[in-house]
Amino acid sequence: MDPDRVLEGLDPEQLEAARAVRGPVCILAGAGTGKTRAITHRIAYAVASGVVAEQQVLAVTFTTRAAGEMRGRLRALGAPRVQARTFHAAALRQLSYFWPEAVGGPAPTLVDRKIQLVAHAAHGCALQLDRTGLRDVASEIEWAKVTQVRPADYETAVAKAGRTAPMAARDVARVYDAYEELRRERNLLDFESMLELTAAILTDSPKIAERVRDQYRYFVVDEFQDVNPLQKLLLDAWLGGRDDVCVVGDPNQTIYSFAGATPGYLTGFSAAYPDATVVRLVRDYRSTPQVVRVANASLSHARGPAAQHRLELVAQRPDGPDPTYTEYDDEPAEATSVARKIAALIESGTAAREIAVLFRTNSQSATYEQALSDAGVPFTVRGATRFFDRPEIRQAVHTLRGARNGADGDPLVATVRHILVPLGLTETPPEGRQARERWESLAALAQLAEDVAAARPGATMADFATELDARVATEHAPELEGVTLASLHSAKGLEWDAVFLVGLTEGMLPIVYAESDEQIEEERRLFYVGVTRAREHLAMSWALARAPGGRRGRKPSRFLDGLRPASPSLAGQRAERRRQARTVQCRICSATLTDAAERKIGRCADCPADYDEELLERLKAWRRETASEQQVPAYVVFTDATLQAV
Ligand code: ATP
Ligand code: MG
Repeated sequence: MDPDRVLEGLDPEQLEAARAVRGPVCILAGAGTGKTRAITHRIAYAVASGVVAEQQVLAVTFTTRAAGEMRGRLRALGAPRVQARTFHAAALRQLSYFWPEAVGGPAPTLVDRKIQLVAHAAHGCALQLDRTGLRDVASEIEWAKVTQVRPADYETAVAKAGRTAPMAARDVARVYDAYEELRRERNLLDFESMLELTAAILTDSPKIAERVRDQYRYFVVDEFQDVNPLQKLLLDAWLGGRDDVCVVGDPNQTIYSFAGATPGYLTGFSAAYPDATVVRLVRDYRSTPQVVRVANASLSHARGPAAQHRLELVAQRPDGPDPTYTEYDDEPAEATSVARKIAALIESGTAAREIAVLFRTNSQSATYEQALSDAGVPFTVRGATRFFDRPEIRQAVHTLRGARNGADGDPLVATVRHILVPLGLTETPPEGRQARERWESLAALAQLAEDVAAARPGATMADFATELDARVATEHAPELEGVTLASLHSAKGLEWDAVFLVGLTEGMLPIVYAESDEQIEEERRLFYVGVTRAREHLAMSWALARAPGGRRGRKPSRFLDGLRPASPSLAGQRAERRRQARTVQCRICSATLTDAAERKIGRCADCPADYDEELLERLKAWRRETASEQQVPAYVVFTDATLQAV
């Protein structure tokens, strides 16, 4: 592709970054300013202008979805062979390639969930832990490994980092030690050891390092604010002292520091590489001015090192609807209403895949799955069982592979449908949450077949099976049609037309265990990440009670303070109504009634029952005119003499 064409559609700062094809480059900018877009164009430009060959580029992104999106964009820009992967996928690929030469012997088994191994280790240490306890210890081991803390140093490191260990630090250290022991014994590799081992091979085997460094000469890392020391170690091993590296990030979107992310690598980049090209972007291309205003305001009270790097976002898009703030009585009421609003958006033409419901913890997902299911709205849950691990997809892929050499007379799409129908791909989606989810994933496979057939007319089953194999290997799941349900953590880097930020209460966001100032700041950044995912519609909501009829003790999140218009809250309105309902006045003399019997008849004992309505009105008018505070005994209303006086 013509190099200049690749640069079309970039603004002056993005151009500066894209044109700086050699040497260290750092793009430091807020959400939605086109960082990811700028680096994608930079890579394509470097390839198109012959600075580097496609195969020599390694672009590292944070999630498999982000990697898939980047590959898609690069394909459109004429650089389809560039490798865009997560740190893990890149390391796994290199490690499997060099294993026989560097280590030898049987290849280790990869453990993607530690919990079982942690349970064995805890048992060996005679410690009784429930599931939550095991999960907490597993995350703690993860933290220790990514921050390069050995079991023997764990206690000191925890104290130094000011972390609260889930149980006595000494016990965590014991389980950690036993865990590593078991892991080695059983020839298992977890994700952290995989990165560590890859880095160690590059450091210890100069021959292998030379080959790897000969292969990869050009590095780009997106979301660099969330890189941890272990990932940095691997990046440095890849670089081996070279400086053709471009990093991109937003310190105000650091949301993984609890797990060891170190934003200092981003903010300290120009100190580490004094001749780096540093570019700052402020134009926000993603969101409407209304959403950008909320984003800017949400960080206005931010404190700490990240906040020093904050640049006010400047909206570029035309006006859109005002963000909404809604309070509900309880969570099911919130979910039902959100589902209805989503159904209405879809009805009015927004595609379901352009809508997301974002929450703080995965436990909030189930209520929304149910509500959307009840409203007949298709959805997919991010971070749930990975697409290619779903039982129906495993089965379908197996059958499709088996049909690889089948009758190539039949068109691809028809053949694939023919295979998928008996597995559950009915004409219309079935009722029920699970059946529907199953249907959605099969439909995604059928859609993939249509995409392949559209891109390559005459494609055969063998072509489709090859495409499937490649996608399984890179975990590149096809786009599922449906509303996205995702945690705020897994939403970073992504965008939707409409975003529903739900469950915004104290205790949820900030999460109840965020206590220190730093933890609260990280929760604030999570809120900012959530707000900045929305292109147009941003709906924020919260519920005062968990269940219907429950105690309405919850408070709206502090991060909403100063954002929402100063309308009284639902709780405030209700309290006012209760207060009004409680004050009963005598309908004749307006005295406040406290006696139960008087309240019941709405008249005080001093006032006669047989009053004259018309005369009373005249008296009231007289009171208003004279603004008299003077108490007029009720009986005067009924004497002609007094009326003469009036
Ligand atoms: P995040 O911090 O959330 O990762 P980002 O800075 O990486 O955001 P991008 O995802 O690259 O932002 O871009 C946000 C949106 O703005 C995308 O839809 C992108 O296509 C669009 N965009 C970026 N730059 C431009 C531009 N110069 N002109 C038009 N649209 C742009
Ligand atoms: Mg991005």
